[in-house]
Amino acid sequence: MTDAKRVRFAPSPTGYMHIGNARTALFNYLFVKKVGGQFILRIEDTDQERSTPEAVKVIVDSLKWLGLDWNEGYFGLNEEKGDFGPYSQMKRLSMYNEYLDKLLSLKKAYYCFCTEEEIEIERQQAVKAGTPYKYGGKCKKLSETEIKEKLAKKERFVVRFTVTENTLVKFNDMVRGAVEFNTKEIGDFVIARSDGVPIYNFAVVIDDHLMEITHVIRGEDHLSNTPRQVLLYEAFGFEMPEFAHLSMILGADRSKLSKRHGETSLLAYRAKGYLPEAMFNYMSLLGWYPKDGVEIKSKEEIFTNFDIKDVGHSGSIFDEKKLTWMNHEYIQKLPEEVYLKYALPYLNNISKPDNWKKDVLLKIKTGVKHFDQISELASIYTEVKAVDEKAANVWSGINNAAATINAFIEVLKANEITKENCKVLIAEAGKKANVKGKDLFMPIRIAITGAEHGDELANVLPALGSAECIRRMETNLKNIK
Ligand code: GLU
Repeated sequence: MTDAKRVRFAPSPTGYMHIGNARTALFNYLFVKKVGGQFILRIEDTDQERSTPEAVKVIVDSLKWLGLDWNEGYFGLNEEKGDFGPYSQMKRLSMYNEYLDKLLSLKKAYYCFCTEEEIEIERQQAVKAGTPYKYGGKCKKLSETEIKEKLAKKERFVVRFTVTENTLVKFNDMVRGAVEFNTKEIGDFVIARSDGVPIYNFAVVIDDHLMEITHVIRGEDHLSNTPRQVLLYEAFGFEMPEFAHLSMILGADRSKLSKRHGETSLLAYRAKGYLPEAMFNYMSLLGWYPKDGVEIKSKEEIFTNFDIKDVGHSGSIFDEKKLTWMNHEYIQKLPEEVYLKYALPYLNNISKPDNWKKDVLLKIKTGVKHFDQISELASIYTEVKAVDEKAANVWSGINNAAATINAFIEVLKANEITKENCKVLIAEAGKKANVKGKDLFMPIRIAITGAEHGDELANVLPALGSAECIRRMETNLKNIK
């Protein structure tokens, strides 16, 4: 093995790219960016029922969108590159079989012909006894002749790895430090089935060894698999990689991140108009906290500051609100022409000249948190919006709403509204109508925008200008009565 560091991201192509998986990919990438080395994208497609070619494409698209690049493995549906291929497990079956034969001939693994029913009985007994289930070892005692006979009869089998009882399996985890498991908890585990398809724990060890992976960085959900893998490394006499198990990603209520907390698919954020740079920055903070406490960082800064040893081992919260805050910050910092390039397509359904659209887009920029809000935010400028039902209810609950509007109309007739004088002019109307707070702002908002919520008045009113504000208030005042 050379000194070069080699890491891999090894997703199963079974659907969309979950935020948690994307974070694993990102931390592998950041690790390599910091210490140098090669990043490999390997596809773990042994679950043939759930794996699809489309999902491979989703994986590649997701990683590319996030701004990651890699050196070997899959780059598209049927595009592989690198000297350690093939890079998907279903194309590597002959390799696994070769190593499986080795273990069998070393007597470190054995055939097990127990039926599912037999295993289920054992499992029930363990449940009754209140002990964790472990295979009872019946087939370990089969003679060579019995095995040959059963194989000749084409009985269905699995191959089990022989685990030495009651010994400690130790490994070092870059995130968690020293980790220990007692083999008492493990039992002879399945590594392959008679259809020739290996089980994850076995395939992953062969792949990581043959691909000369030096650092295995993955989710904490695999922590309990690692002792099994360590036992396999030892059985083969393979050099052990270093491990890092990243904490789970939780929702704001500290339960496992799920749809309840917001979108869990990386590309859903692309669809909602989040910037990949903001996503990259926000996701780098899922488990890692920069020593200088500055959260908004350029990629270059993240590359130099990131250290896998600083990654925490308690669960990291994926807070969509904070992500949205960060995305808003990133959008505000975009140079005008870049912002317009992103934003213009969101007004495709409006037949107005580009210049008009650009003008509106710049007016609403401060309110844009993600781009898919644009058509809603812009609608304030595109039409005099009739007061919606919810807003009309709110309106009717306010005393003298109409008088407030008439006062504001009077004020605007005498003054052109600007960003600077906006607050003062609203207050002046308040004084005239003798109202404050919500009783003042809400009628104005409703009469001008037609809705109860929306961008700040200080953005909307100056952008519309006094004449347009008056026109809208007069129209709505007539309709609302
Ligand atoms: N295919 C596994 C997963 O998606 C990979 C685990 C590993 O990185 O070893 O969780």
